[in-house]
Amino acid sequence: MKIVIIGSGFAGLKLARKLNNKPNVEVLLIDKYNYHQFQPLFYQVATSSLDASNISFPLRKAFQHSKNVRIRLTTVTDIDTTNNCVKTDIGDFDYDVLVLATGADTNFFGNKQMQALAYPMKSTVEALRLRHHLIQNFEDALRVKNNSEELKPYMSIVIVGGGPTGVELSGAIAEMRNKILPKDYPELDFSTMKIYLVEGSPKTLGVMSEKSSEQSCKYLHELGVTVINNTVVKEFDGYKVTLSTGETIETKTVIWAAGVKGNIPGGIDPTLVVRGNRIKVDRYNKILGFNNVYAIGDVASMETPKYPTGHPQLANVAITQGKLLAKNLLKISSGSREPLEEYEYHDKGSLATVGRNRAVVDIPHPKIHIGGFLAWVFWMSLHLFLIVGVKNRVQIFINWMYKYFTFDQNLRLIFRGLGITDNAQLPQHQLPTVQQHLQTLIPDEKAGVPVTQSNQVVTPSPAQVPTQPASATSVAKVVV
Ligand SMILES: Cc1cc2nc3c(=O)[nH]c(=O)nc-3n(C[C@H](O)[C@H](O)[C@H](O)COP(=O)(O)OP(=O)(O)OC[C@H]3O[C@@H](n4cnc5c(N)ncnc54)[C@H](O)[C@@H]3O)c2cc1C
Repeated sequence: MKIVIIGSGFAGLKLARKLNNKPNVEVLLIDKYNYHQFQPLFYQVATSSLDASNISFPLRKAFQHSKNVRIRLTTVTDIDTTNNCVKTDIGDFDYDVLVLATGADTNFFGNKQMQALAYPMKSTVEALRLRHHLIQNFEDALRVKNNSEELKPYMSIVIVGGGPTGVELSGAIAEMRNKILPKDYPELDFSTMKIYLVEGSPKTLGVMSEKSSEQSCKYLHELGVTVINNTVVKEFDGYKVTLSTGETIETKTVIWAAGVKGNIPGGIDPTLVVRGNRIKVDRYNKILGFNNVYAIGDVASMETPKYPTGHPQLANVAITQGKLLAKNLLKISSGSREPLEEYEYHDKGSLATVGRNRAVVDIPHPKIHIGGFLAWVFWMSLHLFLIVGVKNRVQIFINWMYKYFTFDQNLRLIFRGLGITDNAQLPQHQLPTVQQHLQTLIPDEKAGVPVTQSNQVVTPSPAQVPTQPASATSVAKVVV
């Protein structure tokens, strides 16, 4: 049986590993990157705590000794379910069984201005881009250090979305401001630097328990983060953010952690796509109406009595769906008469960290909440356990210990020439208008989303930009 898996994230990689060297199946694993990305630690790459290679694992290494798993590095553009083939930049591939494990991408909720100017964090490359911007921002601030008005936008950072990603990122940036940046840039006064976390709902970590929400907010206050609840970001012109309350914040840095939507290649019937751009699947992860096409992980929406609107978009859901699908596909390929197993998600708990010695853990059965140092140690141990590759695990552990004892890290490096966008490098009058920039967006009709070209430098004038309210839905939560 020829199985094509699109996507080597948590779901696709687990599935391919479980089918590795098994009889009766040939696997083709397709991804646009040649490595698996450990998304929960993107924020540590963005804040110079970890090297990008520490959270990435080369796919070819994972299947070096495989007899039946082959890999192709390309983007799937379309699926032809009539002829059982997927279309890619490097040619077409036939399948007997197709599995979509394409995950999710940032959702800007149609706000093109935000898409053009804010920094998302949904890939290692985007995490690196954010890291470079954060460091370059302070290099640029030095140019205007004697003019307090001009300096203001460089000394404020706005993070949109108070889910785990926004909370973890705010905490990490606050720790940089408190411990590292004043040593790196003695000419700048970091007591004036502001970090704002803007959340549309009444609380941060709204997907977790009341206690965790409250505690996360307390930790953020302790670290000096200004949390603004019940508020959404309406506009950003590259220099100033306008909130739904009418207030404005001068900033050159808006980080977008406010929503995700499923990645669906062309060829999927739009009537199968539900909220969050996810594909409706049955309890076996089979896409409704098909016999041989499946979706797993973030891109799949399976309605169950416990999860009537689909499962949360979490690594553990993706991993367990990949695992079960492998089991069921092996039964099918061997002609076994054993019944296939339905998927049921068992929530083992959720956790998030806000910084050194500060984390929150919720365990559902028995209902336990842990906060502080113990929760932080738990958070670290779990992430070390989950990361792919022994070398990565050892390197991350050493990095974390080094940082814990020295309050420092050596990764604040800007690598030029990588096609990294950075609006901060040019004074305002040299930047093209957002209208010009929007013309350079490549319409990705398959996904229905315009994709920005790299190296675009923009500033919009609000009058030129069709603005839409940004929703402040939380990005995926953190789960054991
Ligand atoms: C910043 C951040 C922090 C997070 N923290 C946590 C956490 O702490 N705990 C937790 O449980 N979850 C967390 N999540 C969510 C978790 O990462 C996702 O639920 C999980 O990655 C979903 O796995 P997946 O396999 O469905 O998709 P992904 O892991 O996103 O993998 C999808 C893969 O498909 C590939 N792909 C997509 N489209 C195509 C195409 N057309 N052609 C070829 N390849 C394609 C992509 O390159 C990618 O490799 C976090 C997510 C983010 C962004």
